Amino acid sequence: MSVVMKFGGTSVQDAAAILRAAEIVRSRLHRAPAVVVSALSKVTDCLLAAARAAALGNREQSLAITLGLRERHYTAVSELLRAPIFTALHESLAAQFDALDDLLRGISALEELTPRTLDNVLSFGERLSSAMIAEAFRARGLQATHVDARSCISTDANHGNAVPDLARSAVALEKYIRPLLNAGEVPVLGGFIAATPSGITTTLGRGGSDFTAAIIGASLNSTDIEIWSDVDGMMTTDPRICPSARRIKTLTFEEAAELAYFGAKVLHPATLLPAVQKDIPVWVLNSANPACEGTRIIARAAPTSNPFKAIAAKTSITIVDIVATRMLMAHGFLESIFAVFARHRCPVDMVCTSEVSVSVTVDSTHAIPALAADLARLADVKYEGRKAILCLVGENIRGARGLAAQVFSAIPDVDIRMISQGASEINISFVIEEADVPRAVAQLHDRFFSEVDPEVFA
Ligand code: ASP
Ligand code: MG
Repeated sequence: MSVVMKFGGTSVQDAAAILRAAEIVRSRLHRAPAVVVSALSKVTDCLLAAARAAALGNREQSLAITLGLRERHYTAVSELLRAPIFTALHESLAAQFDALDDLLRGISALEELTPRTLDNVLSFGERLSSAMIAEAFRARGLQATHVDARSCISTDANHGNAVPDLARSAVALEKYIRPLLNAGEVPVLGGFIAATPSGITTTLGRGGSDFTAAIIGASLNSTDIEIWSDVDGMMTTDPRICPSARRIKTLTFEEAAELAYFGAKVLHPATLLPAVQKDIPVWVLNSANPACEGTRIIARAAPTSNPFKAIAAKTSITIVDIVATRMLMAHGFLESIFAVFARHRCPVDMVCTSEVSVSVTVDSTHAIPALAADLARLADVKYEGRKAILCLVGENIRGARGLAAQVFSAIPDVDIRMISQGASEINISFVIEEADVPRAVAQLHDRFFSEVDPEVFA
Protein backbone atom coordinates (compact mmCIF):
# COMPACT_ATOMS: atom_id res chain seq x y z
CA MET A 1 0.00 0.00 0.00
CA SER A 2 1.27 3.39 -0.84
CA VAL A 3 0.10 6.73 -2.07
CA VAL A 4 1.94 8.95 -4.53
CA MET A 5 1.66 12.65 -3.70
CA LYS A 6 2.70 15.08 -6.39
CA PHE A 7 3.09 18.75 -5.54
CA GLY A 8 3.02 21.14 -8.49
CA GLY A 9 5.03 24.34 -8.83
CA THR A 10 2.61 26.62 -6.98
CA SER A 11 2.31 24.08 -4.16
CA VAL A 12 6.06 24.43 -3.50
CA GLN A 13 6.56 28.00 -4.68
CA ASP A 14 8.12 29.32 -1.47
CA ALA A 15 8.92 28.39 2.12
CA ALA A 16 5.33 28.81 3.28
CA ALA A 17 3.99 26.55 0.52
CA ILE A 18 6.66 23.92 1.23
CA LEU A 19 5.70 23.91 4.90
CA ARG A 20 2.06 23.40 3.95
CA ALA A 21 3.12 20.50 1.73
CA ALA A 22 5.06 18.99 4.66
CA GLU A 23 1.94 19.03 6.83
CA ILE A 24 -0.12 17.44 4.06
CA VAL A 25 2.47 14.68 3.72
CA ARG A 26 2.40 14.20 7.47
CA SER A 27 -1.35 13.63 7.30
CA ARG A 28 -0.69 10.72 4.92
CA LEU A 29 2.21 9.08 6.75
CA HIS A 30 0.15 6.00 7.63
CA ARG A 31 -0.31 5.40 3.90
CA ALA A 32 3.38 5.18 2.94
CA PRO A 33 3.59 8.29 0.78
CA ALA A 34 6.08 8.72 -2.05
CA VAL A 35 6.44 12.40 -2.91
CA VAL A 36 7.02 13.89 -6.37
CA VAL A 37 7.70 17.61 -6.67
CA SER A 38 7.82 20.09 -9.52
CA ALA A 39 10.31 22.89 -9.75
CA LEU A 40 9.29 26.00 -7.78
CA SER A 41 6.61 27.81 -9.78
CA LYS A 42 7.82 29.50 -12.98
CA VAL A 43 11.36 28.13 -12.56
CA THR A 44 11.15 25.93 -15.64
CA ASP A 45 10.01 28.95 -17.69
CA CYS A 46 12.95 30.97 -16.35
CA LEU A 47 15.43 28.19 -17.15
CA LEU A 48 14.01 28.00 -20.65
CA ALA A 49 14.44 31.76 -21.04
CA ALA A 50 18.00 31.56 -19.70
CA ALA A 51 18.90 28.77 -22.13
CA ARG A 52 17.41 30.67 -25.06
CA ALA A 53 19.18 33.88 -24.13
CA ALA A 54 22.47 31.97 -23.89
CA ALA A 55 21.88 30.36 -27.27
CA LEU A 56 21.61 33.84 -28.76
CA GLY A 57 24.93 34.73 -27.18
CA ASN A 58 23.33 36.92 -24.50
CA ARG A 59 25.42 35.58 -21.68
CA GLU A 60 24.78 38.46 -19.27
CA GLN A 61 21.04 38.26 -19.70
CA SER A 62 21.12 34.51 -19.22
CA LEU A 63 23.17 34.71 -16.03
CA ALA A 64 20.97 37.48 -14.68
CA ILE A 65 18.05 35.06 -14.86
CA THR A 66 19.87 32.34 -12.93
CA LEU A 67 21.00 34.90 -10.36
CA GLY A 68 17.33 35.63 -9.68
CA LEU A 69 16.62 31.91 -9.34
CA ARG A 70 19.59 31.50 -7.04
CA GLU A 71 18.30 34.21 -4.72
CA ARG A 72 14.84 32.76 -4.69
CA HIS A 73 16.08 29.30 -3.70
CA TYR A 74 18.48 30.70 -1.11
CA THR A 75 15.70 32.75 0.47
CA ALA A 76 13.45 29.71 0.70
CA VAL A 77 16.25 27.63 2.21
CA SER A 78 17.06 30.32 4.76
CA GLU A 79 13.42 30.42 5.82
CA LEU A 80 13.14 26.65 6.00
CA LEU A 81 16.36 25.50 7.60
CA ARG A 82 18.62 26.37 10.49
CA ALA A 83 22.38 25.99 10.66
CA PRO A 84 24.16 23.58 10.23
CA ILE A 85 21.72 21.95 7.77
CA PHE A 86 21.19 25.36 6.20
CA THR A 87 24.92 25.74 5.56
CA ALA A 88 25.29 22.27 4.09
CA LEU A 89 22.31 22.60 1.77
CA HIS A 90 23.22 26.14 0.83
CA GLU A 91 26.63 24.88 -0.29
CA SER A 92 25.18 22.07 -2.32
CA LEU A 93 22.63 24.37 -4.00
CA ALA A 94 25.41 26.87 -4.70
CA ALA A 95 27.45 24.13 -6.39
CA GLN A 96 24.46 23.21 -8.55
CA PHE A 97 23.85 26.83 -9.53
CA ASP A 98 27.54 27.17 -10.39
CA ALA A 99 27.28 24.10 -12.63
CA LEU A 100 24.18 25.57 -14.25
CA ASP A 101 25.97 28.86 -14.90
CA ASP A 102 28.92 27.01 -16.42
CA LEU A 103 26.55 25.20 -18.70
CA LEU A 104 24.92 28.48 -19.79
CA ARG A 105 28.32 30.05 -20.41
CA GLY A 106 29.12 27.08 -22.64
CA ILE A 107 25.88 27.48 -24.55
CA SER A 108 26.49 31.18 -25.07
CA ALA A 109 30.09 30.61 -26.19
CA LEU A 110 28.91 28.11 -28.80
CA GLU A 111 25.63 29.95 -29.51
CA GLU A 112 24.18 26.51 -29.88
CA LEU A 113 21.46 24.81 -27.87
CA THR A 114 20.74 21.18 -28.63
CA PRO A 115 17.61 19.46 -27.26
CA ARG A 116 19.90 17.34 -25.12
CA THR A 117 21.57 20.37 -23.56
CA LEU A 118 18.23 22.09 -23.05
CA ASP A 119 17.00 19.07 -21.09
CA ASN A 120 20.09 19.33 -18.95
CA VAL A 121 19.39 23.01 -18.22
CA LEU A 122 15.70 22.42 -17.50
CA SER A 123 16.44 19.50 -15.20
CA PHE A 124 17.98 21.88 -12.66
CA GLY A 125 14.53 23.11 -11.62
CA GLU A 126 13.44 19.74 -10.24
CA ARG A 127 16.91 18.73 -9.08
CA LEU A 128 17.07 21.83 -6.90
CA SER A 129 13.50 21.74 -5.66
CA SER A 130 13.54 18.06 -4.71
CA ALA A 131 16.82 18.32 -2.78
CA MET A 132 15.60 21.39 -0.96
CA ILE A 133 12.15 20.03 -0.18
CA ALA A 134 13.51 16.74 1.13
CA GLU A 135 15.68 18.70 3.60
CA ALA A 136 12.78 20.93 4.56
CA PHE A 137 10.64 17.87 5.25
CA ARG A 138 13.37 16.43 7.46
CA ALA A 139 13.59 19.70 9.34
CA ARG A 140 9.88 19.31 10.05
CA GLY A 141 10.42 15.87 11.50
CA LEU A 142 9.48 13.76 8.49
CA GLN A 143 11.83 10.91 7.64
CA ALA A 144 12.34 12.10 4.09
CA THR A 145 15.00 10.84 1.70
CA HIS A 146 15.91 12.62 -1.50
CA VAL A 147 16.07 10.28 -4.50
CA ASP A 148 17.34 11.46 -7.89
CA ALA A 149 14.45 10.71 -10.25
CA ARG A 150 16.99 10.16 -13.01
CA SER A 151 18.04 6.92 -11.38
CA CYS A 152 14.42 5.71 -11.33
CA ILE A 153 12.61 6.93 -14.44
CA SER A 154 14.16 5.50 -17.59
CA THR A 155 13.31 6.91 -21.02
CA ASP A 156 14.38 6.89 -24.64
CA ALA A 157 16.57 9.71 -25.94
CA ASN A 158 13.73 11.78 -27.41
CA HIS A 159 14.87 14.94 -25.65
CA GLY A 160 12.16 17.38 -24.62
CA ASN A 161 9.46 14.73 -24.76
CA ALA A 162 11.14 11.51 -23.77
CA VAL A 163 9.07 8.34 -23.72
CA PRO A 164 9.38 6.34 -20.52
CA ASP A 165 10.29 2.68 -20.52
CA LEU A 166 7.77 1.54 -17.94
CA ALA A 167 9.23 -1.93 -17.41
CA ARG A 168 12.71 -0.62 -16.86
CA SER A 169 11.50 2.18 -14.60
CA ALA A 170 9.48 -0.30 -12.54
CA VAL A 171 12.61 -2.33 -11.85
CA ALA A 172 14.49 0.77 -10.71
CA LEU A 173 11.59 1.97 -8.57
CA GLU A 174 11.40 -1.42 -6.85
CA LYS A 175 15.10 -1.16 -6.19
CA TYR A 176 15.31 2.44 -4.96
CA ILE A 177 11.84 3.40 -3.72
CA ARG A 178 10.21 0.26 -2.35
CA PRO A 179 12.84 -0.34 0.35
CA LEU A 180 12.45 3.24 1.57
CA LEU A 181 8.69 2.87 1.83
CA ASN A 182 9.11 -0.42 3.65
CA ALA A 183 11.43 1.29 6.10
CA GLY A 184 8.88 4.02 6.79
CA GLU A 185 10.89 6.65 4.91
CA VAL A 186 9.31 9.24 2.63
CA PRO A 187 11.11 9.28 -0.73
CA VAL A 188 11.13 12.73 -2.37
CA LEU A 189 11.78 12.84 -6.11
CA GLY A 190 11.75 15.59 -8.70
CA GLY A 191 9.08 15.11 -11.34
CA PHE A 192 9.61 15.76 -15.06
CA ILE A 193 13.25 14.62 -15.15
CA ALA A 194 14.49 11.22 -16.22
CA ALA A 195 17.46 9.62 -17.93
CA THR A 196 18.31 7.28 -20.76
CA PRO A 197 19.74 3.85 -19.92
CA SER A 198 23.21 5.33 -20.42
CA GLY A 199 22.47 8.09 -17.92
CA ILE A 200 21.86 11.09 -20.17
CA THR A 201 19.35 13.48 -18.60
CA THR A 202 15.97 13.74 -20.35
CA THR A 203 12.62 15.40 -19.61
CA LEU A 204 9.09 14.11 -20.02
CA GLY A 205 7.63 17.24 -21.65
CA ARG A 206 6.21 20.36 -20.04
CA GLY A 207 3.93 19.58 -17.14
CA GLY A 208 5.56 16.17 -16.98
CA SER A 209 5.67 15.88 -13.20
CA ASP A 210 2.17 14.46 -13.24
CA PHE A 211 3.48 11.82 -15.61
CA THR A 212 6.27 10.96 -13.17
CA ALA A 213 3.69 10.57 -10.40
CA ALA A 214 1.57 8.25 -12.54
CA ILE A 215 4.56 6.13 -13.56
CA ILE A 216 5.59 5.73 -9.94
CA GLY A 217 2.04 4.99 -8.80
CA ALA A 218 1.55 2.39 -11.51
CA SER A 219 4.91 0.74 -10.82
CA LEU A 220 4.41 0.57 -7.08
CA ASN A 221 0.76 -0.46 -7.40
CA SER A 222 -0.20 2.52 -5.26
CA THR A 223 -3.74 2.77 -3.98
CA ASP A 224 -4.06 6.43 -5.01
CA ILE A 225 -2.22 9.15 -6.89
CA GLU A 226 -2.72 12.65 -5.52
CA ILE A 227 -2.02 15.68 -7.69
CA TRP A 228 -1.73 18.67 -5.38
CA SER A 229 -2.09 22.04 -7.09
CA ASP A 230 -3.71 25.38 -6.36
CA VAL A 231 -7.27 24.66 -7.41
CA ASP A 232 -10.02 22.79 -5.59
CA GLY A 233 -10.30 20.21 -8.35
CA MET A 234 -11.66 20.00 -11.86
CA MET A 235 -14.53 22.34 -12.49
CA THR A 236 -17.61 22.17 -14.69
CA THR A 237 -16.12 25.08 -16.59
CA ASP A 238 -13.53 27.82 -16.21
CA PRO A 239 -14.67 29.83 -13.16
CA ARG A 240 -13.06 32.95 -14.60
CA ILE A 241 -15.47 32.78 -17.51
CA CYS A 242 -18.40 31.53 -15.53
CA PRO A 243 -18.51 32.26 -11.79
CA SER A 244 -21.24 29.68 -11.20
CA ALA A 245 -18.85 26.86 -12.19
CA ARG A 246 -19.01 23.91 -9.80
CA ARG A 247 -16.46 21.40 -8.64
CA ILE A 248 -16.75 17.97 -10.22
CA LYS A 249 -16.45 15.42 -7.41
CA THR A 250 -15.84 12.46 -9.63
CA LEU A 251 -15.29 11.78 -13.29
CA THR A 252 -13.79 9.09 -15.45
CA PHE A 253 -10.31 8.93 -16.89
CA GLU A 254 -11.77 9.26 -20.35
CA GLU A 255 -13.67 12.39 -19.41
CA ALA A 256 -10.63 13.84 -17.65
CA ALA A 257 -8.44 13.11 -20.67
CA GLU A 258 -10.83 15.01 -22.94
CA LEU A 259 -10.84 17.93 -20.51
CA ALA A 260 -7.10 17.89 -19.98
CA TYR A 261 -6.62 18.30 -23.66
CA PHE A 262 -9.16 21.09 -23.74
CA GLY A 263 -7.09 23.31 -21.57
CA ALA A 264 -8.16 22.14 -18.11
CA LYS A 265 -4.54 22.79 -17.21
CA VAL A 266 -4.78 20.95 -13.94
CA LEU A 267 -3.62 17.70 -15.47
CA HIS A 268 -1.20 16.50 -18.08
CA PRO A 269 -3.21 14.17 -20.37
CA ALA A 270 -0.50 11.53 -20.58
CA THR A 271 -0.60 11.35 -16.79
CA LEU A 272 -3.65 9.31 -16.97
CA LEU A 273 -2.33 6.44 -19.05
CA PRO A 274 -0.21 4.48 -16.56
CA ALA A 275 -2.85 5.09 -13.88
CA VAL A 276 -5.71 3.99 -16.15
CA GLN A 277 -3.95 0.77 -17.03
CA LYS A 278 -3.67 -0.11 -13.36
CA ASP A 279 -7.07 1.28 -12.40
CA ILE A 280 -5.54 3.61 -9.81
CA PRO A 281 -7.67 6.61 -8.84
CA VAL A 282 -6.09 10.02 -9.42
CA TRP A 283 -7.11 12.86 -7.13
CA VAL A 284 -6.82 16.54 -7.96
CA LEU A 285 -6.40 18.42 -4.68
CA ASN A 286 -5.63 21.94 -3.45
CA SER A 287 -2.60 22.34 -1.19
CA ALA A 288 -3.85 25.77 -0.12
CA ASN A 289 -7.17 24.20 0.89
CA PRO A 290 -6.41 20.60 1.87
CA ALA A 291 -9.78 20.14 3.56
CA CYS A 292 -11.53 20.26 0.20
CA GLU A 293 -12.05 16.74 -1.09
CA GLY A 294 -11.05 17.67 -4.66
CA THR A 295 -11.83 15.63 -7.74
CA ARG A 296 -11.46 11.89 -7.98
CA ILE A 297 -10.74 10.43 -11.40
CA ILE A 298 -11.61 6.78 -11.79
CA ALA A 299 -12.09 4.15 -14.46
CA ARG A 300 -15.88 3.87 -14.41
CA ALA A 301 -18.47 6.29 -13.12
CA ALA A 302 -22.01 5.62 -12.05
CA PRO A 303 -24.64 7.07 -14.38
CA THR A 304 -25.94 10.49 -13.36
CA SER A 305 -28.90 12.60 -14.30
CA ASN A 306 -26.63 15.22 -15.88
CA PRO A 307 -25.71 14.54 -19.48
CA PHE A 308 -22.42 16.47 -19.20
CA LYS A 309 -19.63 16.70 -16.66
CA ALA A 310 -18.00 19.81 -18.02
CA ILE A 311 -17.77 22.45 -20.71
CA ALA A 312 -14.29 23.28 -21.94
CA ALA A 313 -13.06 25.86 -24.40
CA LYS A 314 -9.82 25.94 -26.30
CA THR A 315 -8.94 29.24 -27.89
CA SER A 316 -6.23 30.21 -30.39
CA ILE A 317 -7.53 27.79 -32.95
CA THR A 318 -7.23 28.16 -36.71
CA ILE A 319 -9.62 26.49 -39.12
CA VAL A 320 -8.06 25.22 -42.34
CA ASP A 321 -10.58 24.58 -45.13
CA ILE A 322 -9.38 22.36 -47.94
CA VAL A 323 -11.62 22.10 -50.98
CA ALA A 324 -11.01 19.86 -53.97
CA THR A 325 -13.53 18.68 -56.48
CA ARG A 326 -10.95 16.04 -57.29
CA MET A 327 -11.88 14.44 -54.04
CA LEU A 328 -15.27 13.49 -55.39
CA MET A 329 -15.25 9.67 -55.53
CA ALA A 330 -11.47 9.55 -55.15
CA HIS A 331 -9.62 7.47 -52.64
CA GLY A 332 -6.34 8.29 -50.99
CA PHE A 333 -7.04 12.01 -50.98
CA LEU A 334 -7.35 12.35 -47.23
CA GLU A 335 -4.13 10.45 -46.87
CA SER A 336 -2.29 12.91 -49.06
CA ILE A 337 -3.74 15.84 -47.08
CA PHE A 338 -2.79 14.40 -43.74
CA ALA A 339 0.67 13.55 -45.01
CA VAL A 340 1.21 17.30 -45.38
CA PHE A 341 0.17 17.94 -41.77
CA ALA A 342 2.46 15.13 -40.66
CA ARG A 343 5.36 16.57 -42.63
CA HIS A 344 4.84 19.91 -40.89
CA ARG A 345 4.59 18.11 -37.54
CA CYS A 346 1.31 19.88 -37.06
CA PRO A 347 -1.23 18.09 -34.87
CA VAL A 348 -4.81 18.21 -36.13
CA ASP A 349 -7.54 18.54 -33.51
CA MET A 350 -10.92 18.37 -35.16
CA VAL A 351 -11.76 17.10 -38.63
CA CYS A 352 -14.98 17.45 -40.63
CA THR A 353 -15.34 16.17 -44.15
CA SER A 354 -17.87 16.41 -46.92
CA GLU A 355 -17.65 14.88 -50.38
CA VAL A 356 -15.46 17.66 -51.70
CA SER A 357 -13.99 19.36 -48.69
CA VAL A 358 -12.13 18.81 -45.48
CA SER A 359 -12.02 21.26 -42.61
CA VAL A 360 -9.54 20.77 -39.84
CA THR A 361 -8.53 22.78 -36.81
CA VAL A 362 -4.99 23.35 -35.66
CA ASP A 363 -3.38 25.42 -32.92
CA SER A 364 -2.81 28.95 -34.20
CA THR A 365 0.77 28.75 -32.94
CA HIS A 366 1.79 26.51 -35.82
CA ALA A 367 3.46 27.95 -38.90
CA ILE A 368 0.23 27.92 -40.85
CA PRO A 369 1.19 29.90 -43.97
CA ALA A 370 3.91 27.36 -44.81
CA LEU A 371 1.53 24.50 -44.19
CA ALA A 372 -1.16 26.11 -46.32
CA ALA A 373 1.30 26.70 -49.14
CA ASP A 374 2.09 22.99 -49.17
CA LEU A 375 -1.56 22.02 -49.06
CA ALA A 376 -2.29 24.42 -51.92
CA ARG A 377 -0.48 22.03 -54.24
CA LEU A 378 -3.27 19.53 -53.66
CA ALA A 379 -6.38 21.66 -53.28
CA ASP A 380 -7.83 25.09 -52.67
CA VAL A 381 -6.92 26.17 -49.17
CA LYS A 382 -8.26 28.87 -46.89
CA TYR A 383 -7.49 29.45 -43.28
CA GLU A 384 -8.93 31.64 -40.56
CA GLY A 385 -7.67 32.20 -37.02
CA ARG A 386 -9.27 33.53 -33.82
CA LYS A 387 -11.51 30.53 -33.47
CA ALA A 388 -12.23 28.39 -30.44
CA ILE A 389 -13.27 24.81 -29.90
CA LEU A 390 -16.04 24.38 -27.39
CA CYS A 391 -16.38 20.92 -26.00
CA LEU A 392 -19.04 19.34 -23.83
CA VAL A 393 -17.82 16.21 -22.12
CA GLY A 394 -19.70 13.43 -20.40
CA GLU A 395 -20.04 9.66 -20.45
CA ASN A 396 -23.81 10.08 -20.51
CA ILE A 397 -23.71 11.47 -24.03
CA ARG A 398 -23.61 7.85 -25.14
CA GLY A 399 -27.07 6.87 -26.19
CA ALA A 400 -28.72 10.13 -25.11
CA ARG A 401 -31.35 11.40 -27.51
CA GLY A 402 -32.02 14.97 -28.46
CA LEU A 403 -28.90 16.25 -26.76
CA ALA A 404 -27.46 18.04 -29.79
CA ALA A 405 -30.74 19.88 -30.22
CA GLN A 406 -30.63 20.99 -26.58
CA VAL A 407 -27.04 22.15 -26.94
CA PHE A 408 -27.52 24.23 -30.03
CA SER A 409 -30.84 25.68 -28.94
CA ALA A 410 -29.10 26.97 -25.79
CA ILE A 411 -26.84 29.18 -27.93
CA PRO A 412 -29.14 30.44 -30.67
CA ASP A 413 -27.06 33.53 -31.52
CA VAL A 414 -23.66 31.88 -31.74
CA ASP A 415 -22.17 31.27 -35.16
CA ILE A 416 -21.17 27.58 -35.37
CA ARG A 417 -18.40 26.80 -37.82
CA MET A 418 -17.72 23.08 -37.47
CA ILE A 419 -19.42 20.33 -35.49
CA SER A 420 -18.07 17.01 -34.37
CA GLN A 421 -19.51 14.44 -32.07
CA GLY A 422 -16.40 12.64 -30.97
CA ALA A 423 -15.68 9.07 -31.88
CA SER A 424 -15.07 8.53 -28.17
CA GLU A 425 -18.83 9.12 -27.80
CA ILE A 426 -18.22 11.25 -24.77
CA ASN A 427 -17.84 14.66 -26.28
CA ILE A 428 -19.72 17.04 -28.49
CA SER A 429 -17.37 19.64 -29.91
CA PHE A 430 -17.87 22.57 -32.18
CA VAL A 431 -15.95 25.54 -33.42
CA ILE A 432 -17.06 29.11 -32.78
CA GLU A 433 -15.55 32.59 -32.92
CA GLU A 434 -13.11 33.18 -30.09
CA ALA A 435 -15.01 36.32 -29.12
CA ASP A 436 -18.19 34.29 -28.55
CA VAL A 437 -16.63 31.98 -25.96
CA PRO A 438 -17.70 33.76 -22.74
CA ARG A 439 -21.29 34.14 -23.89
CA ALA A 440 -21.60 30.60 -25.23
CA VAL A 441 -20.04 29.03 -22.14
CA ALA A 442 -22.31 31.02 -19.82
CA GLN A 443 -25.42 30.07 -21.76
CA LEU A 444 -24.51 26.39 -21.93
CA HIS A 445 -23.54 26.27 -18.27
CA ASP A 446 -26.85 27.81 -17.35
CA ARG A 447 -28.70 25.33 -19.46
CA PHE A 448 -26.93 22.17 -18.27
CA PHE A 449 -25.63 22.85 -14.76
CA SER A 450 -28.36 24.83 -13.01
CA GLU A 451 -29.53 21.59 -11.42
CA VAL A 452 -26.93 18.96 -10.68
CA ASP A 453 -26.57 15.49 -9.19
CA PRO A 454 -25.13 16.10 -5.70
CA GLU A 455 -23.22 12.80 -5.84
CA VAL A 456 -21.19 14.03 -8.78
CA PHE A 457 -20.99 17.80 -8.38
CA ALA A 458 -20.23 19.99 -5.38
N1 ASP B 1 8.49 21.95 -14.03
C1 ASP B 1 8.01 21.33 -15.22
C2 ASP B 1 7.20 22.30 -16.03
O1 ASP B 1 6.97 23.41 -15.58
C3 ASP B 1 7.26 20.07 -14.98
C4 ASP B 1 6.04 20.21 -14.11
O2 ASP B 1 5.94 21.12 -13.30
O3 ASP B 1 5.14 19.37 -14.23
O4 ASP B 1 6.79 21.99 -17.12
MG1 MG C 1 1.43 20.90 -13.88
